[in-house]
Amino acid sequence: MQPATQAWWLAAGRLLGTVLIGSGVGWLVGRPWEGLACALTLHLAWVLVNLFRLEWWLRHRNFADPPDVGGVWGEIIAQVVRLHRRKRFHKQRFVQLMRQLQRSTAALPDGVVILNAQREIVWFNRMAARLLNLRRTGDLGMRIENLLREPEFVRYLAGSDYSMPVVIRPMNGEDVYLSLQVVPYGDGQLLLLVSDVSRQMRLEAVRRDFVANASHELRSPLTVISGYLETLGGDPALEPDLKAPLAEMRRQAARMTSIIRDLIELSRLEETNETVVGEPLDIAALTSLLRKDVLARTVHPRDVRVRIDSTARLVGSESEITSAFSNLVDNAAKYTGAEGSLEMRWWVDDEGGHFAVSDTGIGIPPEHLPRLTERFYRVDPGRSRATGGSGLGLAIVKHVLQRHGGTLEVVSRLGEGSTFTCHFPPARILSSTRAISVATA
Ligand code: ADP
Repeated sequence: MQPATQAWWLAAGRLLGTVLIGSGVGWLVGRPWEGLACALTLHLAWVLVNLFRLEWWLRHRNFADPPDVGGVWGEIIAQVVRLHRRKRFHKQRFVQLMRQLQRSTAALPDGVVILNAQREIVWFNRMAARLLNLRRTGDLGMRIENLLREPEFVRYLAGSDYSMPVVIRPMNGEDVYLSLQVVPYGDGQLLLLVSDVSRQMRLEAVRRDFVANASHELRSPLTVISGYLETLGGDPALEPDLKAPLAEMRRQAARMTSIIRDLIELSRLEETNETVVGEPLDIAALTSLLRKDVLARTVHPRDVRVRIDSTARLVGSESEITSAFSNLVDNAAKYTGAEGSLEMRWWVDDEGGHFAVSDTGIGIPPEHLPRLTERFYRVDPGRSRATGGSGLGLAIVKHVLQRHGGTLEVVSRLGEGSTFTCHFPPARILSSTRAISVATA
C-alpha cells in the first residue's frame, strides 16, 4: 500500500477511535452525546494545532525545518518539500541559463536589439549599446525610429521586405557604416541585428578607386597604341603578310578600349548610390537614334522596329539612360542574326513606364538568367568576345536602373530570342499633359 493511502486509513481509523472512545466514555457516565462532543473537540484541536504548525512552517520555510508530524500531515509536508525542491532546482537552472545567455550575447561581435510590436526597445546587448549609442537607463521602452532617424533606416523599417540589410552612416559617427537587418519573430516582435561594416565599405571604396584609377591610367597608352595601329593599317606600303596580324591587333585594341570605357562608366555609376533626379527625356527621339545606330552596323537584324505607345516622358539622366538603353539594343543586335528582328517598345501604365527590347536572336538558357547582370558574366565567353562584348553592359544597365528606382526583367528562350524590359516607377513618368503645363509655366 502507498504511504499516502496508509496515512489516510490511519487518519480515518483515528477519527473512528476518537468517536468510539468519546461516546463509550460518555455512555459509561450516562452522557454519550457530551462524551462524543468532547472527543471530537479534542480531535479538532489536534487538527488545528497541526494546521497552525504547517502554516507557520510554510511562511518560514526558508530557514525553519519542517515540523515532525506523522500521518496525513506528514504526507502533506513531504509533498510540499518535494515541490519546493523542484521549484528551486528549476529556478536555479533558469537563472543559470539567463546568465549564460547574457554572457554570450554580450560576447557577440554584433549588436542585438529586441523590439516589440510597437517598435519599442525591449532589450539590447552591449555591442548594440556601443554601436547605436543606446543608454540602458533612458532608451529602454523608446521607439527605435526616435533614436535612429537616418532616412534609409526609417524607410526600411516602414517597409515589409527585410530580406536584405540596410547600410546607414550614422550622423554622429565619422566614417562609420552600420549594417542593420530586421528579423521578424513571434507575435509582431522584431530582432534588430547591427554590425559595423565600415571596414568592408572602406575596402569596397579602395577597390572602386583602384579600378577607376587603373582604367584611367590604361586609357591614355591605349589611345596612343590604337592611333599608331590605325595609321599603320592605312599605310599602302604595309607588307601583305602583316595585314592580318595588324587587323587582329586593331580589333583587340578596340575591345580593350571598350572594356576600359565600360569600366570607367561603371566606376562613375558606383561612386554614389544616390538616386538621380535628371530631366524629362523624349524616349521617341532616343529610340529613333538607337535604331539608326543598329542600322549602321555592318551586320544587323533585317527588321528593326520601334513602337512608341505613350508620349509620356521619362525623368532621368540623359547620358545614363542613353547608355543603358543603347547597351540593351546593342546586345539585341549583336546576338541576333541578319535574318532576325529587333523591336524597341515604350509604354506607360499604372505601374509606371516600361522600355522593352525584344529580339529573335540566340536566346539565353534559363540557368544563366539570374547571373546576367554580374560583371564580366557571359553566357558564351567565346561568342561574346568575338562580338566585341566587354561583359559589363548589363552590369551598367542594372546600376543605371537602380539609380532611377527601376528594375530589369529578362525573359528569354534558347534559340527563340530574348526580351529585356526596364521598369520605371510612376514617380519617374511625366505625362504629356503635365509636360505641356510644365513647358508653358
Ligand atoms: P557582353 O558585352 O558580353 O554582351 P553584357 O553584360 O552586355 O556583356 O551581357 C552579358 C551576357 O548576356 C552576354 O555575354 C550574353 O551572353 C548575354 N546576353 C545579353 N544580351 C543578350 C541577348 N539579347 N541575347 C542573347 N544573349 C544575351
